[in-house]
Formats: sequence, C-alpha cells, structure tokens
Amino acid sequence: MNKLIYFFEEDNNSGKELLGGKGANLAEMTKLGLPVPSGFTITTESCIRFLNDETFFEKELKEHIIASINKLEQQTNKSFTEENHLLLVSVRSGAASSMPGMMDTILNLGLNDKRVRSFAKLTNVAFAYDCYSRLLQMFGDVVYSINKENFNRVRHDLEKQLNKKQQDFSEEQQQQLIEAFKSLFITHDVRFPQDPIEQLFEATKAVFKSWNNQRAKVYREIHHIPHHLGTAVNIQSMVFGNSGNNSGTGVVFTRNPSTGENKLFGEFLINAQGEDVVAGIRTPEPIETLQNLLPTAYKEFVHYAEQLEKHYKDMQDIEFTIENEKLFILQTRNGKRTAKAALQIALDLVAEQRLTKKEAVLRISPEAIDQLIHPIFDEKELTNAKLLATGLPASPGAATGELVFTAEKAKEYHALGKKVILVRQETSPEDIEGMVVSQAIVTSRGGMTSHAAVVARGMGTCCVTGCESLHIQEESKTMMCGDIRLAEGDLVSVDGSSGCLYLGDIPTIVVENNQNLQQLLAWADEYASLKVRANAETVSDLQTAIDFGASGIGLARTEHMFFGEKRVLEMRRVILAQDNQEFEAALTKLLEFQQEDFYQMFKAVHDKPMIIRLLDPPMHEFLPHTMNEINTLAKQLKRRPSEVQNQIEKLQETNPMLGHRGCRLGITEPKIYQMQVRAIFNSAIKLMKEGFLVRPEVMIPLVSEENELRNIKEFLTETVLETFKEQQVEPFPYEIGTMIELPRACLIADRLAMNSDFFSFGTNDLTQMTFGFSRDDIGKFINSYKEKEIMVQDPFQTLDQTGVGELIKLAVAKARQTKEGMMIGICGEVGGDPYSIPFFQKIGIDYISCSPYRIPAARLAVAQANLIN
Ligand code: ADP
Ligand code: MG
Ligand code: MG
Repeated sequence: MNKLIYFFEEDNNSGKELLGGKGANLAEMTKLGLPVPSGFTITTESCIRFLNDETFFEKELKEHIIASINKLEQQTNKSFTEENHLLLVSVRSGAASSMPGMMDTILNLGLNDKRVRSFAKLTNVAFAYDCYSRLLQMFGDVVYSINKENFNRVRHDLEKQLNKKQQDFSEEQQQQLIEAFKSLFITHDVRFPQDPIEQLFEATKAVFKSWNNQRAKVYREIHHIPHHLGTAVNIQSMVFGNSGNNSGTGVVFTRNPSTGENKLFGEFLINAQGEDVVAGIRTPEPIETLQNLLPTAYKEFVHYAEQLEKHYKDMQDIEFTIENEKLFILQTRNGKRTAKAALQIALDLVAEQRLTKKEAVLRISPEAIDQLIHPIFDEKELTNAKLLATGLPASPGAATGELVFTAEKAKEYHALGKKVILVRQETSPEDIEGMVVSQAIVTSRGGMTSHAAVVARGMGTCCVTGCESLHIQEESKTMMCGDIRLAEGDLVSVDGSSGCLYLGDIPTIVVENNQNLQQLLAWADEYASLKVRANAETVSDLQTAIDFGASGIGLARTEHMFFGEKRVLEMRRVILAQDNQEFEAALTKLLEFQQEDFYQMFKAVHDKPMIIRLLDPPMHEFLPHTMNEINTLAKQLKRRPSEVQNQIEKLQETNPMLGHRGCRLGITEPKIYQMQVRAIFNSAIKLMKEGFLVRPEVMIPLVSEENELRNIKEFLTETVLETFKEQQVEPFPYEIGTMIELPRACLIADRLAMNSDFFSFGTNDLTQMTFGFSRDDIGKFINSYKEKEIMVQDPFQTLDQTGVGELIKLAVAKARQTKEGMMIGICGEVGGDPYSIPFFQKIGIDYISCSPYRIPAARLAVAQANLIN
C-alpha cells in the first residue's frame, strides 16, 4: 500500500504527481535548508481515492492524519488541541500543475472560542481575533460555500455600529463579531466546528472536493490538464505576518514577469496575512522598500531567491512571510509570464549557462509564439470592456476599428484612412479585397476552417467566426448583439485569440517579431526532423511564409487566381462557352494569367519547393447569383440573361461538398487541368532560362479511385512532355502527386502510390468526410458536444487521432509498402496545431504545412515533438 502522507523533510522522489506542485516544492525547499514552516502533504492519490469512495476518509485516511498531527506537535513543541503552546495550521491545496486561485486555502486552523482567548493572552487581542475571524471567514467560504462578502458585510455593520475598526475592538466586541460570524453559519444550516481535529478533517475533504468544482474543471479544459490527477493537501504550521509592524507578507518574482528583466519584481505588506497582498484591500509596497524597513529579512530573502532560481533553473514566483523579523518561505513555483518575458528569460538563462539550448527550446510553448507575432489587448483594459458576443478564435490578434458590413464599405472606409472591422454572416472569395484592408474579420456563421478563418490566418489578420448570437441586417446596415444595436461606423474591438467581440476601442500592445524569436527558432530548427512548409499562394503570403522560415510551400491553391475581375469573366466564359472556339479563346486568356502568376510565385519562393494544387472547387462557385450580376454577365457575354440564368441553374448542386469538384473536374474537363499544367511548366522553363532552378510539384485533389489518378496523370504527363518540346528544352525532373482527403483514398493508398510521386493529406476534407461533419456547420453543435463531454476537441482544430489519425497512419504504411521513402505531408489546418504535430512525427510524416503566420509556432512545435519522442 502506498503511503498516504509525507512530511516535508521526508526523503522521497515522488515529485509533483504525488505531492502536487506546492507540496513537492515545499519538500524540496525544506531539503535545501530554507526556512519553511514544518508540515506534511496528503497525496493526490488520497484525493482520488476519496473522490471515488468517500468512506476511504473514515476508514483509512483519518488515522494517518491524526498520527501526522501528533508528529507535527512534537516537531514544533506545540499542541493542536490544548490551550497552551498553540499549534495552528494552514490547509493548502496544490495540484501537479499550478492552478492559481482555483482551489482555496484556509489559514489559522485550530482556533476556537476557547483557544482564541489563550492566544489573545499570549499575544494580543487584536491579533488573536484577527486570526480567528479570518479562519471563520475562510472556513465558511471554502467548506460551506458561504460567500466571503457576507462576512465582510457583517464586520462592516458592526464596525459602523461601534464606530471603530475591528483592530480597535475590545475583547467583548471581538467576541460579538465572532458570534455574528457563527450565526452566518447557522443561517446556512451548518455550524462552525469547535474541535480543531474536526476542522482539519472538514477542510481536507473540502479541498479534495474542490478538485471537481466547476471553475477548476473549466480551467483544466482550457489548459489541457487531465481530470484524473487530483489535488494534494498541505498541512503546515502557521507563521504570522499579521503579528505587528516587524511582520509582513509578500509575493515576489525573481525576474520581471512582463518584460523578463533580471531584477526582483514584487510586493509586500507590513502586518498582514495570507492573500492580503493580492486582495487589494490595502495597497502593497514594492519589494525594494523592504530593504529599508526590515533589512536583515530582505537580505536573507534575496539570497534565497537566487538560490531557488539556480536550483529550479527558472524564474520563480515566491511567497514569503516575516514574523517578528524572521523570514519564512511559504511557496515557490515557476512563475507565469508573458510570451515576451518567457523568451527573454529563456535566452538569458542560456547566456548565464544555467540552461541548455535544448531546454530553452522545450521551455517555450508554441502558443506563446503566436502572441509574439500578433498584437494583443492590454489585459487591464479588457476587464472594463463590454463584451458583445463570443465566437470561435479563428485567427489570433487584437484589433479595433469601425464596423462595416460589406467588403465595398471596407474598401471605401479604408480609402478614407479609417480602420475597419468587417462583420459578415460569412465571407466568400469576392470579399477578399475588403478582407485585406480590414483590421479584423468577424462572421456570424462558419467554423475554424471557414473561408473567413482560412483567409484571415493566411493574412495574419485577426478573425472570429461563428458568432451565432450576432444578428446582422445588411439592408439597414445594423447589427443586434443581444439588445444592443450597432450601426455602420460604430467602434468595436475583436480579440481573435479568445474569440471575443467588444464594444468600443481597447488599446493594444504590439509585441514585435524580434531577434530573440529568431534566435530561439534557429535553435529549434537544429532539433527538428519534420519540415515546416506553408499554405500560401499570393506573392505577399509566399514572401511572409519564407520570411517566417518556411522550408517550402506545401499547398498553393490555384482557385484564388481566378477571382480578379478580369479573370473571373474569362473563367465564366470557359464554364458557359457555347462552342469550342469561345472555350479555347477564354482558356488561352486564363493560360496567360496563370503563367504570369506562377512565374511570380516561383520567383518568390526561389530555391524552395512548392506544391501547386490543380483546380478544386465546383464550377458554380465562379458564377454569379443575384439577378443584377447575371444581367451584367449576360451583357458581357452578349447573351440573353434568361439563357445564362438557365445554364447557371443547371450547374447548381444539391450537395456541392460531395459534388462535381476536385479531380472529377479533371476527368470531365481535362483541358482546364492541361492549361494549368502548361502554365506551370511554361513559367518554370522561363525561369530556368533566366538561370533559376525550378522543380515543379503538381498535386491532384480529391482522388478516391486509382483509375481517376491514372487517367489524369496520363494526360498531364503528355502535356508536360509536349510543353518541353514546344519550348525546346531538355526534360527536367518534376513530380505529380495527389492529395489524400477521402477515406477511400486512405484505404487504397498502396495502389494510389503506384501513380503518385508524393502524398499530401488534406485533413480538412478528410476530417469532414470521415465524420460526415460539414466543417462550416460544426459551429452549430460543437459547443454542446464539448459541454456534454461527447467530444473534447473540435476535430478541425486538433487531429482526431483515434479515427482520422488511424486512417492517415494506415495510408502512410500502405503507401510506403509500395514506395519506400515516398514524401508524405500534411496540408490541412491541423498540420499547424501543436497538439497534433507529435502524432504526425510519430507516424513518419515528412513535413507539415500551415498558414504563414502559424509557421514560427510550428517550427517550435516540430522541434519539441522530436525532442520528446
Ligand atoms: P495559493 O495556491 O492560492 O497560492 P496558498 O496555499 O499559497 O494558496 O496560500 C495563500 C497564502 O496563504 C500564502 O501565500 C501565504 O501568504 C498564506 N499561508 C499559507 N500557509 C501559511 C502558513 N503556514 N503560514 C502563514 N501563511 C500561510
Ligand atoms: Mg489563492
Ligand atoms: Mg500560494
């Protein structure tokens, strides 16, 4: 049977899992010889056993606690139950990962009506009753959920009635207060236990149970902390920072947690206890002033702070108390910090030779990197902001601007030098120019991989999607958020990292993509084995991707290239052509456009590889929908509107997602794919003649059957050879590969590999097709799924390893049976997800590809995945 309780000084190496973070560090500090008040830790295992079966407490744990208290009495030469030499203790929760403020602490445990009198005699009335009233208040709050405010109100009323502060009460008046506090318990149908042992038992059980309270659960969800760990309970003899002006309590970071500067940063209060420093009742003093007030204690503190930092090799967040000039250290942990500080501290520690480069790479979280390359709202300002709506955090960043509801308006305002926030039901490719000039994009529909989300992430623009509670009335240019009506031009703020929309403007802080980041990522690259490519196609996105350190392009979509005004018209001509001549003429125009595009794209990525995907969306996405637009198009084509309308209607599909798209277009309209491939090779050859080395990689989308691939590959290869001939150049190496994005393709991957030079998993469609969830509609139910614990993650954000991941794993194995060493990548959204990357590493993927702004975080994530494997 495992031990249920450990004393701080006991030699064991069980660490955080068993003792919780606080307990493990108290033990560690005790062994280092720091002045830590004595105590013991009830293990997390005991907590789990109790939560599974409450009788465990009575049957087993109880006697161990009693034995431990007896031992503590001997160690401290005090008594927990008798009236002399009072031993008082704190009961402190502490889980393996720190969950600040999640589970509460009770101080001064062991006082009761009788013992407080002898305590008052030994010390003084004000102090003793300060401790006792705090105990009642904390005990009521933690054990019986009686709101702390109730106690404050009672105290306040009595102070008013007696016309003095509690510290000036006579002993009778103090007792009057205690009685009033006790009646508060009674009105809640409970009573405050007078027996110290009973207090201890109740407090311990309450801390155990707090592991499962709602806010603790939510906190764990957000921070990916497993629910089965449990919390430890630390019982520690009290020291008193509230025993006069030579006493006090404080909290100090060994380095500045917002900038990383190597200088003590913290606060303290004279004559105070526990959380007074953070409670905001009195204004604390900066730590430096302690040097003048209590110089010996200060000097000692500085010494221990250095020792702890050295020992833990990280910035520490230290809680201390001084009792009559004697210093006690009550807690230390690795301090929370901003992304900027995290980076600064890690690099400084490497420079100070306390940390290796590898440790530094492992220490920074990929999420923190996101904060470094996007502006964020000033935390302080956020607390006062009016929240209008929440949606999905589709693209990080923070922005403020004037509200607009159309892309046109966005452009118009932008031209006037205004900052705009574009709010739409959903965006479509026609909105692109409006999106480019917007500070942020918000949609009331759509998920994390909707058009708006993908485009915004690509541009590094802040974006919130699926804000279902917004009611947009485009006609009247207004929007309702609950009962607030907003009109065009109103100021709003968007937080793309939390998915929140706020009223008014909120100041942001910009954290720059600085040299520190470059340095860290350069180290990361040394440890990585997975390569990081980018999903990008416009020249500026390609440039951004390369600047962020992409090792190539994993997905350049070609459909975006058809959306400019002139181009879409030619595309429409191709689709609606009535004879071959018209068709060929339009196709030639498109060839010219594409050739120029590819030329620029190849040039932008220079010597890095780029996979170009052939046309993927269904044809009707290029066609107009409103009568107005149809009339214009008819005029341009010199045709009757009704005729054009008829043709458009014929192209409509019941289920476009499963419709006539991807390689199916290649089969029915080979000339379009041939045109694209000709354009790719013409520009590659042109660049070659100019002295560049280009090795085109062409990708065929949405393949589900090997004959599809064989058919298309055959005519594409012919086209390539023709092109070489036409241009009179020696054939050079190139690759034709396929995207794997359908379950069937995974199952026949060995066969597909015979006709494919490489694979790239399109995890967006693959997830969609495997679950049968439309990725644009998942927003309607994913939150319910999460609340009911049916699904923990949105599978479009983090790979579903059990289902979709299994298909990928199978396909990789099958493909490599056919072609050992075949290059295989991931180009869906989850490719850039730090939680999915270790899986890709494990199953032998060669590279992941993600939007340009996710590249820095992904570079770090792939290094970490390799280091921990
Ligand atoms: P949290 O997890 O919220 O940091 P703690 O268990 O650290 O909670 O308790 C909060 C504060 O209570 C500590 O910072 C310290 O000031 C005070 N405290 C806890 N235990 C003792 C003790 N044994 N003696 C004096 N003060 C204590
Ligand atoms: Mg707390
Ligand atoms: Mg603490």
